Amino acid sequence: MTNSVNVAIDGPAGAGKSTVAKQIAKRLGFLYIDTGAMYRTLTYAALREGVSVHDGQALYKLLEGGRIELDTSGQGANVFWNETDVTEAIRSNEVNANVSAVASHEPVRRAMVQQQQLLATKANAVLDGRDVGTHVLPHANLKVFLTASVLERAKRRYEEQLANGMDSDFELLKREIAMRDELDSTREVAPLQKAEDAVELDTTLMTFEEVVETIYDLVKERTA
Ligand code: C5P
Repeated sequence: MTNSVNVAIDGPAGAGKSTVAKQIAKRLGFLYIDTGAMYRTLTYAALREGVSVHDGQALYKLLEGGRIELDTSGQGANVFWNETDVTEAIRSNEVNANVSAVASHEPVRRAMVQQQQLLATKANAVLDGRDVGTHVLPHANLKVFLTASVLERAKRRYEEQLANGMDSDFELLKREIAMRDELDSTREVAPLQKAEDAVELDTTLMTFEEVVETIYDLVKERTA
């Protein structure tokens, strides 16, 4: 237990967790810790190094031998692997397609959770992911479970990619999101699950501002 204030935001792929978490962190002056970016970075490194995404021990070794660094300021949210900026590379379709396999291994998760807990004990922080409320920070001051329909989540990703000048394929995004939902919710170790004491927010019909405002008010209420 620590004195730092921690906010856990979990939910399925594309529910808007990172955009919302970043904004909340900024408004509260908290660190922003993107736990998904850590699994993505290891996936990127494995694909580059030719390490199988199905070999938990080899992935663990790769993780222990390297260094993941997150820019936790909530501004750029840049991510580094051994000092190389991988912020964009970890968002590729190839990483999307392999990250759930990488994140399914127990030794990998154990090491990641340790790193995340260490970061969260050092300062007030907003963490987003899949198992933050259930495993990483079971005593978080506030746990939020963000959801939205698959269609809405695919639509948001599609618009985001187009806005960033990227090519986008709506049907592919829909399939990929549904596939990750399935893999993340059915894996044996720390599956995607709403913590019993989490506040569930279905954002399908909510604006970004409404979601941020709701969570911000909840944090204020819990920490008053
Ligand atoms: O949040 P994001 O979509 O970037 O996460 C990428 C993947 O990392 C997820 O689909 C999931 O497989 C894994 N992940 C996880 N536990 C977390 C965060 C992400 O297993 N806390």
